[in-house]
Amino acid sequence: MNLDHKTLALQQFLDNSPSLYHAVSQLETLLLEKGYTRLAENAPWELCAGGSYFLIRGGSALVAFRIPQRGPTGFLLSASHTDRPTFKVKEHGELVGQYTRLAVERYGGMLIAPWLDRPLSIAGRVLVDTGDGVESRLVNLDQDLLMIPNVAIHMNRKANDGYAWNPAVDVLPLVGSTQAQGKLQQALEQAAGGKLLGHDLYLYLRQKATVWGLEENLISSAGLDDLQCVWGCTQGFLNAAPCGAIPVLCLFDSEEVGSNSVQGAASMLLESTLSRIAAALSLNLSQLLANSFMVSADNAHAIHPNHPEYADPTNAPMLNGGIVLKFNAAQRYTTDAMSAALFRKLCSSVNVPVQSFYNRADLTGGSTLGHISLNHVSVPTADIGLPQLAMHSCYETAGLQDSLYLEKAMAAYYSATLIQTTNGYTLA
Ligand code: ZN
Repeated sequence: MNLDHKTLALQQFLDNSPSLYHAVSQLETLLLEKGYTRLAENAPWELCAGGSYFLIRGGSALVAFRIPQRGPTGFLLSASHTDRPTFKVKEHGELVGQYTRLAVERYGGMLIAPWLDRPLSIAGRVLVDTGDGVESRLVNLDQDLLMIPNVAIHMNRKANDGYAWNPAVDVLPLVGSTQAQGKLQQALEQAAGGKLLGHDLYLYLRQKATVWGLEENLISSAGLDDLQCVWGCTQGFLNAAPCGAIPVLCLFDSEEVGSNSVQGAASMLLESTLSRIAAALSLNLSQLLANSFMVSADNAHAIHPNHPEYADPTNAPMLNGGIVLKFNAAQRYTTDAMSAALFRKLCSSVNVPVQSFYNRADLTGGSTLGHISLNHVSVPTADIGLPQLAMHSCYETAGLQDSLYLEKAMAAYYSATLIQTTNGYTLA
């Protein structure tokens, strides 16, 4: 299969992101390579016209922005999330009985069944003692180390009739025999290069991303929700032409657990970053916000091949059918007529198709980042996503063409100089 360089770059990003910390670390490297300056939140900021900057909070959230050459008109924002549903390793994680097992708890609203009978490993960050303080280091054990074994059909004849998973019993991964006791801790300390004082470690699936199908236009991977949007927004942000606004790329942590963390969308991270930009440029924040826009990018549900009945009858996105605009009258998705119109116009300017999504009226869907970040930074927002199947499985499926559409649309968005008028917007 001959994959183009954009597809290979996406695959590489997914494969090298066994945890959210690894995803952010890859983007940090990319931004530094492109000449971006890393800012510290606990130091003064001096921002120059034409400068490119970013900051990282908690190792798992990132905000990048560029200052235009002449008087910024406002902010062009996008938000996506770095975290995904998975299992988190507990403190005192070893359970020793007939075997050695690992104690884990669920992170996010996951589908449990796909995690069973597959080789798993551990990645995340650990805190080590440096003598005069503590330091966060990335760890990826990068080996087939764990398995959550199913119970045989002979012992549970009703296994195929639906199963009520008990997270305290059914999903504890097998490490090995009783002889394996202590070895995981040793492996982690060896990988970290020091004694551990704390950890945020997650299980991950060892299976790599794959492009598949006779048409070679489907991609399956761990973490497509929402790393597919993280990648598309980042590429669009980096490839955009200079414009009159301040383009801002926001990648938040904690979306899968309600966004309430120091580095989540409900934190002060974005508001404080934007107000510091305004202060550094001696501009009025409220005036800039009144001429700003947000694209909240989080994956959406494609119509399911075996269960089309779960989709809304007239707003059911197809894989590879284009970017999805999400609507909800109760504003769990923030799109309204104005933000939808503006986003559609931007997409049509670069021949990117747009689909629409509503939850079937009797099903409750998720919420997204736009809805949450609006509490601190209130700007018109389009809630979008790429259509996918098996959301919150440990191995999800989406359309490859849709990824390319997002890169293209976000490059057009971040190149636009947007001026709010009394009844709408003008775009230059
Ligand atoms: Zn998501």
